[in-house]
Amino acid sequence: MKNSDFSQRWSSAIQNNYGVPRIALVKGKGIVVTDADGKPYLDFLGGISTNLLGHAHPAIVKAVSKQISMLSHVSNFYAHPNVVELAEKLIAMTGAESGKVFFCQSGAEANEAAFKLSRKTGKVRVVAAQGAFHGRTMGALSLTGQPSKREAFLPLIKGVKHVPYGDISAMRKAVTKKTAMVIIEPIMGEAGVIVPPPGYLQELRKLCDEKGALLVFDAVQTGMGRTGDWFGYEYSGITPDVITLAKGLGGGLPLGAMIALGKAANLFNPGDHGSTFGGNPVTTAAGLAAIKFIENKDLLATVKVQGEYLMQELALIPGVKEVRGAGLLLGIELVSLEAGHVARALEEKGVLVNAATDSTIRIAPALIVTDAQIKKFISIFRKVLSDVS
Ligand SMILES: *Cc1c(COP(=O)(O)O)cnc(C)c1O
Repeated sequence: MKNSDFSQRWSSAIQNNYGVPRIALVKGKGIVVTDADGKPYLDFLGGISTNLLGHAHPAIVKAVSKQISMLSHVSNFYAHPNVVELAEKLIAMTGAESGKVFFCQSGAEANEAAFKLSRKTGKVRVVAAQGAFHGRTMGALSLTGQPSKREAFLPLIKGVKHVPYGDISAMRKAVTKKTAMVIIEPIMGEAGVIVPPPGYLQELRKLCDEKGALLVFDAVQTGMGRTGDWFGYEYSGITPDVITLAKGLGGGLPLGAMIALGKAANLFNPGDHGSTFGGNPVTTAAGLAAIKFIENKDLLATVKVQGEYLMQELALIPGVKEVRGAGLLLGIELVSLEAGHVARALEEKGVLVNAATDSTIRIAPALIVTDAQIKKFISIFRKVLSDVS
């Protein structure tokens, strides 16, 4: 079976909501993946910011194998050690005094949970950002600020206002005493890796306190060490009321979470929400293993250094307009080239990235990427830009 065979079978058996992939990946080790034709790639997309420790990482393989050979699923009628330990760990990582976690499988579900939690304040209005991505289910899509993704599915849930990202005065106009929550990405991922101006998150915290609105950080893409901080907002020095996570949280397995802190932690009561697989023993084992590995190897510090190096070096390449982001979540803005075209050329040369927008290449390699692999990526990127321009 070749790539082309899988593409053909995909096109007839899989819904046409993605477009048909040209490549079928069949195995991986670290950040190298191999396709069905036997071609290896440097995986600089990491399953879209998801494979925290790359592929087939011994720590994940061991934790998952051990857990699945012991107990695979229990439902939320029963506790088990991993779910409790991971929840405690995540709360401790926020640095907040108290909090409570709801586990699910995806980012959309984590944001759905936050949306429902906000209703328990007794208020219904929400303010979110234009261009923001919060997921595709009807509730999460109501929060998502991208008209192209929403249009075919209107009407969505009422009461959500979208204001320009990073514009605190627009927020001041939109957020009132009737606002239940403000939801914002610490760095907008899908929109092309957009970093808000200095002071924005701090001002949002003040504004939400003033109006009695929950401040929700969607750290689905920025979270789990990707930016060199655990959740991508810590540089601001503030703490939100709610953090949503998924992507990297399960170390490559499907795991999402909504962490509510302080008073927000106690808004849900029994029966308010649920998920059959939420907090599954195997996915939480993987999440715990990933966090422990990152802590033991002090990877957050490495991610910061590698991110700064990448930013600096990539910005020097002719054809690159700017490099945005933090740590190992970077958006490379091109001067004039079409990002999709560049992504395709990189793929030919054995590097996987994605075109987040028409002009932005996004990279989000696993946090175990080596300095040598980073250098290799930079050199291939430079070559590709000079070839295609
Ligand atoms: C990917 C993403 C989501 C949606 O996550 P899914 O697991 O695809 O539902 C939500 N918010 C942000 C910021 C994301 O990057």
